[in-house]
Amino acid sequence: VTPLLESSGLGVRFTTRTGKVAVALDDVDVEVRPGEILALVGESGSGKTTLARTLVGLQRPTSGEVLFDGRPLSYSSKSLRKLRSEVQMVLQDAVGSLNPKQTVYESVAEGIRLHKRVASDPAGRTEAELVAAALSEAGLRPPERLFLRYPHELSGGQMQRVLIAGALALRPRLLVADEPVSSLDASIRGEILALLLGLRESLGLGIIVVTHDLGLAWNIADRIAVMYLGRVVECGSTEEVLESPRHPYTRALLSVVPEIEQLTPVVLTGEVPDPTRIPSGCRFHPRCPAYADGTAGAAGIAEKCRTAPLPVVTAGGDHRVACHLAATPES
Ligand code: SF4
Repeated sequence: VTPLLESSGLGVRFTTRTGKVAVALDDVDVEVRPGEILALVGESGSGKTTLARTLVGLQRPTSGEVLFDGRPLSYSSKSLRKLRSEVQMVLQDAVGSLNPKQTVYESVAEGIRLHKRVASDPAGRTEAELVAAALSEAGLRPPERLFLRYPHELSGGQMQRVLIAGALALRPRLLVADEPVSSLDASIRGEILALLLGLRESLGLGIIVVTHDLGLAWNIADRIAVMYLGRVVECGSTEEVLESPRHPYTRALLSVVPEIEQLTPVVLTGEVPDPTRIPSGCRFHPRCPAYADGTAGAAGIAEKCRTAPLPVVTAGGDHRVACHLAATPES
């Protein structure tokens, strides 16, 4: 199956105001297949949102390329406008993303007008019918009751659904949801996740979920890419990555997920370093529990962890890990 979206050797670098070079993404290969849910997981500063933005053409890469439907993205405004109707991004802040002066109807109709969806609708529906259909698909029923409401008259869950409806109105093939439930109550979180799963089933949508929460990825994703400081450190099917994690970073993130029965919780010390000061060798080594507790030393790889470029090891099937320890036979 041709992936819906894929990247190869994707990199994003930029120069900061103080003249330093920051590496936001480095040599990233990922893919999303039609009808698949891929979770991009990592702490704040891992590069997951930059990757999502680069995959959907909102950020231009400085190296590598993105292919949509097997064709490289072109960054002309005409191509990007066409891509926008096929790939929609729902941002994490539902409150901030909706215009407080626009009714629900106007919010959803905006994209329909911009992309001339009425003229291209195969069933010949009116604008109001398309708005109603999108709200209904996003689980807001009966949709007409919400047409004239303003964002301040909606709950957090309803706002998130209106944003999703605005995206669905364009009939995208891929939806990117950035932290889709992080600002919602626990009771609503399950509803929004069920909605995303339902949309994948009913519309065959490919979905990228950007999240810091491995538990959420466990519940919703078919495949997971774990990111650290601009690189994918482990990726594979959800079962492969979460049932047999091979990277010490994935293991540490997993050890504090309450839904997943775990071994002793691993507390990561420090924070993701500044992207202008990428550590040498394995960029995770200053925080790596396996490096700190001597496991890497016992395996004879501590020097490599500090200095050597990382190998990407195939751990069976689709499962790939970027770690010297995972490359040793006894790991
Ligand atoms: Fe830890 Fe070394 Fe693996 Fe990096 S390469 S994650 S420092 S064991």
